[in-house]
Amino acid sequence: MLNRCCEKPFEPMDKETRTINEFIQKGNLSELSSEVDSIIRKIFSNGCTICCHYISDKSSYNSGPPPIIRIEMNDRNVPVQIIWDILHEYGHFLSGEQEKKGPKINRELLAWQYAKKELENYPKLRQMILEFEAYAEFCLRTYSHP
Ligand SMILES: [Zn+2]
Repeated sequence: MLNRCCEKPFEPMDKETRTINEFIQKGNLSELSSEVDSIIRKIFSNGCTICCHYISDKSSYNSGPPPIIRIEMNDRNVPVQIIWDILHEYGHFLSGEQEKKGPKINRELLAWQYAKKELENYPKLRQMILEFEAYAEFCLRTYSHP
């Protein structure tokens, strides 16, 4: 859109806002845009980076430095599952040192526990707790049978 004289001068969007918009648009998450906004700003403010990913077949967390969360955006049939992935990968970040030791299944469980604790801050997401738990169960089964 063209800049009109009555509008604010053009300001380049910051990285967080760009990331949030990309998640909302590519992920069809407009109904949960304020939740996506809060979660992603929180992740950035805690010193972790997050981005949309279109190459791999799964979301991932790399402790870095710098720590980075990549969320797979291709073939997502259930938009809210993108949020469950974000919370889960953020859970790996929150696991800190615990993230580096122990069997994979334990680390995955811990990340899902952190994810659930984070989810509880959002009333709209709390209403979907059963969907969240079913998704976590599903993912945990795939980790135990690689
Ligand atoms: Zn994981």
